[in-house]
Formats: sequence, structure tokens, C-alpha cells
Amino acid sequence: MNKTLTPRPGPGILDIAKYVPGDSGASASGPIYKLSSNETPLGASPKAISAFKSAAGTLNLYPDGGASRLREAIAAFYGLNPDHIVCGSGSDEILSLLAQAYLRAGDEAVISRHGFLMYEICARANGARPVFAAETDLTASVDHLLEALSDKTRMVFLANPNNPTGTYLPFDEVRRLHGALPDDVVLVLDAAYAEYVRRNDYEAGIELVANTANVVMTRTFSKIYGLAGLRLGWAYCPENIAAVLNRVRGPFNVSAPAIAAGVAALEDRGFTEQAVEHNARWLDWLRSEITALGLRVTPSAGNFLLIHFPDEPGRGAADADAFLSARGLILRRLENYRLPHCLRTSVGTDAANHALVDALRAFLAG
Ligand SMILES: *Cc1c(COP(=O)(O)O)cnc(C)c1O
Repeated sequence: MNKTLTPRPGPGILDIAKYVPGDSGASASGPIYKLSSNETPLGASPKAISAFKSAAGTLNLYPDGGASRLREAIAAFYGLNPDHIVCGSGSDEILSLLAQAYLRAGDEAVISRHGFLMYEICARANGARPVFAAETDLTASVDHLLEALSDKTRMVFLANPNNPTGTYLPFDEVRRLHGALPDDVVLVLDAAYAEYVRRNDYEAGIELVANTANVVMTRTFSKIYGLAGLRLGWAYCPENIAAVLNRVRGPFNVSAPAIAAGVAALEDRGFTEQAVEHNARWLDWLRSEITALGLRVTPSAGNFLLIHFPDEPGRGAADADAFLSARGLILRRLENYRLPHCLRTSVGTDAANHALVDALRAFLAG
């Protein structure tokens, strides 16, 4: 036996930088405000929590592998065909399955320069090469995405709105992007923040999926619905892509408590409306207060805000992060998104938002 051999992963896998999740705790003495992962500050709907608890009585049983109740609830909510919906353990799983099904070694996946990190991970995990397209004002650029295409391109990932920048593409731009793609390239529209968007020119992608054979829209229960810990997402797909995802996914990839809580969360429209209201009010407030302090922020359509810091010793993003962490305010550093001079903050509770602005004021004064 040759003792110098070790198991080797597939091509590309060791090129994946380890994912650094949003920090969850500081060594501060007072309250901790976790603003690093775009979670809702409002928790989950009490109805979803109660449905989750009720599912505890039947944990010995496998879930419905087709997640039929949930797919039907989603279909009814949005007016979709349930056969074209595939649920997953978070939309992250759906992204992974799409990459696993449609990308192989030597292929290319086109990603916007500051696009969501999962896309690069998904591409590399399958030996495909991520090709990054330049942005304009931290916004995805259809022209640059199209310039990045080659005959090896098999997939284009677009988060709309994008995390961590918060910027979005008006839907006529998304349609223009799709119109210029070859029919055998999959366009993945990640609409994780769609529920928060209040813009007349925005669409999540439902119509485009319905009328094409190569567009997938992914959605999540992790953000507005406050079920990030449960891991629940879904995709709306053309028939051919749904058939592929249903072949590669695990037969029980969504848990019974997740199905139950997801259905209840969807039904609690009042709770969702309050969450949208809370976000709109405080996103606006944070933008204007932080701008008034003399810091630049990027206009956001999501539930988070990108704050820019000067590239000066003692005044930069890393300095601000240390100052804020010591006061219990956990924001997200963005070096791995090529945004070293920025911090991303989620919209928090009333108290968290005030604490953040007060701490930023103190940081700038110090
Ligand atoms: C948070 C987020 C998701 C959600 O991922 P889940 O796996 O559903 O929790 C997907 N895409 C983007 C861009 C996100 O920011």
C-alpha cells in the first residue's frame, strides 16, 4: 500500500476560499446586535413557529419528498404551476444543484464582480471557472456580463437585488441580458430579497421563467420570512429544469418542520407586510442618518446597506469594524467580496439601528 497517497477532491474544489460567515458575537459587555447576515430583526411569524412546534410530534416520519403542501401554497400565493416549483434546503442548495446539474470541468460561469459568493463556490465545486464581469457603480452591468460570455459559458448568475451591494437591475435590463444569451446557457435569477424591493421597474423574474426554457428564479424563506435557521428555499423553473433538479436533489431534501413552517409563514401576510414596512422605514432612516454623518452609502433595494469608509489610517472599514464590534455591533467585512473599504449592515431593530448610528458618530468623532 502506498502511504503517501491521500484522497484527492475533484478539480477546482481546493481553489474555493473557505466561506467566512457573518460574525455572530462580540466580546462586548452590553447587548449584541448581529447585523452581519441580513437576517430579519423581527423573528419569524408566530404562526410559523407554532407550525414548526406542531411538527415535533411526527419527527419519526420522513417528510413528503415532493413538499407538495408547500409547493401548492407557493403556487397559490404567486399564481404559479406547482409542478414548476422545486424546494430546497435553503436557496443555497438549489444553487448548488443547478451548478451540479449544468456545470462541469472546463465550463465557465459568468458572475458579476461583487456578486453573491455562493456562485463562485458552486462553480468551482464542479470544476467550472468563475468569470467575473465588471460592474458600473457597484451595479451589475448587462454589457459587461455579455462581454464575459464565451463558448464555454454554461451559466450566468445574477442576484437581483445583489448582496452585498444592495443594487438591482430594472427588469428591462434583465430581459435584455436574457435576450442576448444563447438558449443553452442557464440564467439564474437569485431573488432572495425580492419581497423587500419597492421599485416600479423591478420584477423578480416569474414571467421570464414562464416564457423561456433557460431561466430559473430562486427564492428564500431566510430573509423576509425569518426562517434562516430552518433552511428553506425554492426555485421556479421551466419544466425541463424542474425535471433535472428533481433528479439530482435528495429525495427528502426539505424537512417536515420546514415544510410546515413555510406554509404558515406564507399564509401570515400581515406579518410579512409589517416586516416590509419596518424595513422600508429603517432602511431610509439609516441611509439618511449615516449620510448625514459624512459617510457614503450605496442605495439599497434590500434589507441591508453598504457603508463606505475612507482609505485612511484609523478611519477605515477595519478600524470602524473593530470600534463597532467592541460596542456589540457586528457588521460584515467585505474583503472577500473585493470591497475592503466597505462594511455591510443589516437593517435591525429600532434599538440596533439607533445604536449603530450613535456608534458610527462616536467613531467618526474619535
Ligand atoms: C441570503 C441570500 C440567499 C439565501 O440563501 P438561503 O440558502 O436560502 O438561506 C440567497 N442569495 C442571496 C444573494 C442571499 O443574500
